[in-house]
Amino acid sequence: MQNDLIASATDARLHAIAPFSGFKVGAAIETAAGRVFTGCNVENASLGLTVCAERVALLKALSEGERTFTRIAVVTNADEPATPCGACRQLLWEYCGNISVQMQSLNGSALIIRLEELFPRPFGSGYLSTGKSD
Ligand SMILES: [Zn+2]
Repeated sequence: MQNDLIASATDARLHAIAPFSGFKVGAAIETAAGRVFTGCNVENASLGLTVCAERVALLKALSEGERTFTRIAVVTNADEPATPCGACRQLLWEYCGNISVQMQSLNGSALIIRLEELFPRPFGSGYLSTGKSD
């Protein structure tokens, strides 16, 4: 089962558009119902507009009405399993909570940990609902 998600992320990585960094990433996120949505990184000449594979996969799922997730797989060709960037950690936390994050390199090295280990003390909507106004 875990290997299936890695396989999906590996396939998605083939579609990565990374002409500037050469760092191709594939991701696959699984819903509680077992549906899988994939994504790849999409770079842009205006580098700040680049979107990571994790966010592409998550936003595809959210846009199709999915709201409950169990795990995400991320595949790169780095020497070590690459962790999601800060922006992705924030979005994953907000929409997925403490899901399992499976990171794997094409060389076979792998790491599986919970999101709370990657993203301790996250910012969340709770800060926005304190009822205080200036
Ligand atoms: Zn990212």
